[in-house]
Amino acid sequence: MSMLKVNNLEVAYGGIQAVKGIDLTIEKGELVTLIGANGAGKTSTLRTLVGMEKKSGGSIVYDGQDISGVPVYDFVRRGLVMIPEGRGVFAKLTVEENLRMGAYYRNDEDGIKADIEHVYELFPRLKERQKQLAGTLSGGEQQMVAMGRAILSRPKLLLLDEPSMGLAPLIVEKIFEIVRKISAEGVTMLLVEQNAKLALEVSQRGYVMESGRITMSGNSKDLLDDERVRNAYLGE
Ligand code: ATP
Repeated sequence: MSMLKVNNLEVAYGGIQAVKGIDLTIEKGELVTLIGANGAGKTSTLRTLVGMEKKSGGSIVYDGQDISGVPVYDFVRRGLVMIPEGRGVFAKLTVEENLRMGAYYRNDEDGIKADIEHVYELFPRLKERQKQLAGTLSGGEQQMVAMGRAILSRPKLLLLDEPSMGLAPLIVEKIFEIVRKISAEGVTMLLVEQNAKLALEVSQRGYVMESGRITMSGNSKDLLDDERVRNAYLGE
């Protein structure tokens, strides 16, 4: 059984169709990327997967269940978690309080503590800043908090929207290293990125989205070698 099976998904804002009937499949344990230019419909797709936008057509089956009509607050409990573009950290809460927000639905205090320690091992920087207000952190550190908070919710499918956005190249490398680690720990992931090169290097499979449609898909290695991908997305 696939972790996610999307069939003919459509999303419209008034008269504007942002997503025009796409198919996506993610198997358990896979790290899949969705690349495409600004405005291609990537964010609309992710937001619809977690119930934040209403689909206008098609079906979404997550972990064997049709999730149409599932209320937004229920997605995290079911293990379907998105880290939004712009991170969405709680600026007035400390780093540790932000991490604990991810564990909102859990009551296994020992497990929560162990997961917080695990996040601090992945991001030693956050351990140093555990008592600091998240709003005072750099963009890269806020991305780390957002990823840590997601880990605390024990996701089964993690959707990451443009984690590299606005970050310096060195920090981006660090974030992608952690993406790779989280994936290696068994979390299934869908990574949306404009940085196509890094996204294809870190993932096993990829989809290319253009003007609301999937125009190419395949093994990330093959996409990296594909001339159309190279010309359009790798700046070659
Ligand atoms: P980005 O890299 O900017 O996130 P994207 O590939 O994620 O781009 P979307 O944000 O999904 O693309 O946008 C797809 C299309 O839908 C665009 O034409 C955009 O202007 C439009 N759109 C997105 N959100 C809304 C909204 N809330 N209301 C109206 N139109 C929207």
